[in-house]
Amino acid sequence: MGFRLFRRVKILPGVTVNMSRSGPSLSLGPRGYKKTISKRGLRTTVGLPGTGIYYTDLESWKKVQGSQTGNPASPSTSPHPASTAAPGIACPHCGQTTGTSWLFCPHCGTRLP
Ligand SMILES: [Zn+2]
Repeated sequence: MGFRLFRRVKILPGVTVNMSRSGPSLSLGPRGYKKTISKRGLRTTVGLPGTGIYYTDLESWKKVQGSQTGNPASPSTSPHPASTAAPGIACPHCGQTTGTSWLFCPHCGTRLP
């Protein structure tokens, strides 16, 4: 086959698709601040155009996915809504409900934690 394996296609202003031997990747952003998304990870390139000075950082998908999909069940939805919670805390001595800000149990006089 004679066609080249590397291709660069600009699909939108500031958005470029790179077809390379290692697989396709997507570049976002203006000159000097680019995000490159590929199957290896998310690469950030920050630089000063024309100076040759730039900084690049690769965040692998392994690391990204580990922090985002560690718990598939959403932890934000609580099975115990606050409306059904007791208005106070239970006394560790007699078990009666006391106010959360009370220092001593009104039923038995035990100092509350
Ligand atoms: Zn008590």
